[in-house]
Amino acid sequence: RQPIIAIDGPAGAGKSTVARQLAQQLGLLYLDTGAMYRAFTWYVLSQDCDPADEVAVAELLSKCTIKLTATPSEQTPQPPEVWVNETAVTQAIRTPEVTANVSTIAAQGAVRQALVKQQMQYGLAGGVVADGRDIGTHVFPNAELKIFLTASVEERARRRQRDLAHQGQAIPELADLAQAISERDHKDSTREISPLRQAEDAIEVITDQLTIEGVLDKLSALYQE
Ligand code: C5P
Repeated sequence: RQPIIAIDGPAGAGKSTVARQLAQQLGLLYLDTGAMYRAFTWYVLSQDCDPADEVAVAELLSKCTIKLTATPSEQTPQPPEVWVNETAVTQAIRTPEVTANVSTIAAQGAVRQALVKQQMQYGLAGGVVADGRDIGTHVFPNAELKIFLTASVEERARRRQRDLAHQGQAIPELADLAQAISERDHKDSTREISPLRQAEDAIEVITDQLTIEGVLDKLSALYQE
């Protein structure tokens, strides 16, 4: 069986960038579980459904088929392309509106049950680098390598500003970004079902002082051990 690498951590710690580059280096598939929660959130909002209405949200689960591309190893790593039913939502799932609502929806039991089941299917044959909040604790508890990637809220907010500047988008105040990030972390780590938490056997990597290359070198070294 090919290995599974689990990368968990708070919002904006650089998990997805690192996970997809590591997947490419090692010739494994990249599974962005946050993209799945975002895709379902996009669908809930598109149906004018109240994200806090658990009964109505749960009813939408059976009507929503989520598909993701797993970055093939030979290509430049890109965020996954994402479809909901037949609609391409790759960019739509990254809007502030989706980001502001995703933690409310991801806290709901029926939602987690459905999406975790789909995530486990991707891992059946191994050969996956998956990033999220509960990968090492719930989705792939037997992963060969578990990483908990973190950075201070201030650093994560600064990186977010740089990303937005890079994309030519409006740049919010640092304090506002830091607050939005903290709120999402709080919701994700205090929810009842599989909250954001470092698995006992995960290795913590603090990235404040590291470049992406630095983080990748560190993870490759941990993987070789
Ligand atoms: O990783 P990303 O920031 O795209 O994740 C968006 C949201 O999806 C998180 O804030 C969290 O609420 C939810 N999520 C989760 N479990 C995962 C991955 C993401 O609850 N494994």
